[in-house]
Amino acid sequence: MYIDTHCHIYGEKVDEFVERARAARVGIIVNSGANVRANRKILKLARRYPEFRATMGLYPTDALVMTDEKIKKEIKFIRENREEVIAICEVGMDFVERIEVERQEQIFRAFISLAQELDIPVIVHSRKAEKECIEILEDMKMKKVQMHCFSGRSSLVERIINNGWYLSIPTCVPRSTHFQHVISKTPISQLLCETDSPFMHPLGAGYKNEPANVVVSYEKIAEIKKMPLEEVEKKIEKNFNGLFD
Ligand SMILES: [Zn+2]
Repeated sequence: MYIDTHCHIYGEKVDEFVERARAARVGIIVNSGANVRANRKILKLARRYPEFRATMGLYPTDALVMTDEKIKKEIKFIRENREEVIAICEVGMDFVERIEVERQEQIFRAFISLAQELDIPVIVHSRKAEKECIEILEDMKMKKVQMHCFSGRSSLVERIINNGWYLSIPTCVPRSTHFQHVISKTPISQLLCETDSPFMHPLGAGYKNEPANVVVSYEKIAEIKKMPLEEVEKKIEKNFNGLFD
């Protein structure tokens, strides 16, 4: 069984995606809410399809336009649905525009606390804030961590490995020397795969990605690690079960 550990599927063409995922032997699809509406949609999808798992959070820049009151309400909503939420995602910090850095940190810390309270992993978005996200997670002694689409430098990848966290490899990996490097550097026991659908299509920005394509990341890992694909499949399932126990 293949596992897509991170995507954003909110309603369109879900039946088709699920059908193609099944044909590709993708047995688990971890779907990430990124705002108030998406958190409710992914919960519905997780109830409708056995493959879907719900992870809830607020995308860093989506959270910034909300009041503290609204964010608190959303945290309460996640807490109320704790039985169905397998991780807190998508949360983290985004410094592409470097806006409201302190508030981003404060919100990220609130979500890490929530993950610790619920004893579930956090799946982290850290674009252009890679070092800062790692420092906060270390400071809060967060153990169950998946760094998604991690674009930080090699020394930071090493720090993630030393912390015992996981790195998920997106399906753009065939055209990314960075993610190929992440695969060669990271022990197989700390790798996961993701599509980040509808983004990160193996062929580039003009295409809409979907969970069935996660196999592309598995194939690249098999190639770089010089392991049979079936072995990679088994090891990654083990990693998934280790993180989302
Ligand atoms: Zn995402």
